Amino acid sequence: MSAAASGYAQTGDPPQPRRPGHGGTDPGPRNVLRERQNPDLLVPPATDHGTLPNLRFSFSDAHVRLEEGGWTRQVTVRELGISTPIAGVNMRLNAGGVRELHWHKAAEWAYMLYGTARITAVNADGHNFIDDVGVGDLWYFPSGIPHSIQGLGPDGCEFLLVFDDGTFDEDNTFLISDWFKHVPSAVLSKNFGVPASALAHVPGPEQLYMFPAPIPGALAADTIAGATAVTKRLSYRMLAQEPIRTASGTVRIVDSKIFPASTTIAAALVEINPGGMRELHWHPNTDEWQYYIEGEGRMGVFAASGQARTFDYRAGDVGYVPFAMGHYVENTGTTPLRFLEMFKSSYYADVSLDQWIALTPPELVQAHLHLDQQTLNAMRKEKRPIVPA
Ligand code: MN
Ligand code: MN
Repeated sequence: MSAAASGYAQTGDPPQPRRPGHGGTDPGPRNVLRERQNPDLLVPPATDHGTLPNLRFSFSDAHVRLEEGGWTRQVTVRELGISTPIAGVNMRLNAGGVRELHWHKAAEWAYMLYGTARITAVNADGHNFIDDVGVGDLWYFPSGIPHSIQGLGPDGCEFLLVFDDGTFDEDNTFLISDWFKHVPSAVLSKNFGVPASALAHVPGPEQLYMFPAPIPGALAADTIAGATAVTKRLSYRMLAQEPIRTASGTVRIVDSKIFPASTTIAAALVEINPGGMRELHWHPNTDEWQYYIEGEGRMGVFAASGQARTFDYRAGDVGYVPFAMGHYVENTGTTPLRFLEMFKSSYYADVSLDQWIALTPPELVQAHLHLDQQTLNAMRKEKRPIVPA
C-alpha cells in the first residue's frame, strides 16, 4: 500500500507540505527537525478539517528546574491551554534525593517510570503511610495531605505526577521549611514546647525543595513505633495487574473500584503493537490527558461540526482529548507504543464505535451507513480496545 493510500503523511528529504493535487514545496525558512516529528501536521490526512485547539505539548519543550537533589518540569494549563482539569509533572530524584515534605491543594497521582522511591504521607486521622515503589507502581496523595518522595539506590527514580487541577504549579506548594521560616521563633517554640534555640538552624526552602540526603535503610527500619497505618493504601502495583489482552496489545485500567484511595483520578495504561490501533471510541465522562511512555503514534480527534485534526506523539509527549470527542491512537512506529490515558474522574469509561453499531438494530444502521449484511455481521458485540494492523 502506498503512503498516500494508507493515509500516512508523505515522506521525503526534506518532507514537503503537499499531497497529490494540494500544497507545494516549502523553500523555507523552516524547522525540518520538528516537521519530521510531526508528519501529520505538515501533511494532514485529507479527512482533517477546521480549527481545533492544540492537543499536544512535549515535556521536552518545558522549562527544567535543576536542583541539587534532581530536576523537575511541568506541563500545565500554561503550556497546554486546553488542559484546565489536569496538570502533569515529570520529576527525577537522584539516589537519596528528597522532594521536601510538602502538601498542596490538588490531589497527586503518580506513575513510576524508572528506579525506586520511598514515599511517606500522614492523613487527618493521624494515620501514616510509608512504602517503597518501583517501575509501574502508582501512588495517590489526596488533596491537602502532606507527603514526601525520596529516590532510593542505586540510581534514584523518575516518575510522572498527575494533578487534578490544570493550574497546579510545582513551584507553588506548601513546604515545611517555608512555613518554619514564616512563623516567629517564639511561636514555633510555644507550638513544639521546645526552646527557640533548638529550632534556630532549620534551613530555608531555597536549600530544601529537592535536596540530597543519605539513601535510607530498609523499609522496615522506617516503621514508626505506635503509628496506625492508613485504611486505604496510597500505592498500587499497576504492572502486576493482569491486563485485558488483545492480539495487538494490552490495556490495564485503574480507578477507584480497584484503587479506592484514588477518588479523583482514573487511568488506563495502553500498549499497542506496531501497526495496531486503539479503536475508534470516546469517553462519556470527561476529558482525556495522555502521557506517552515509549514508541511513536498518531491520534486523530473528531470534534463534531465537520472538524477533525491529527497529531503525532512520541515518548515524553502529552496528548489531550476534550470531553466526548471521538478519537483513535495508532502505532506508526516499529516498536510497541505505550501511553497512559488519564481522567479527572473516580471511574474509567469509554464507548466503542464498533460495539455501538453491533448492538443497534441492523436495519437502522443500514439506513444510515449503507453497509452490506456481511459487513454488519463483522461488527463486534464484545469491546476490543485495540485492533490489529
Ligand atoms: Mn506533591
Ligand atoms: Mn481515549
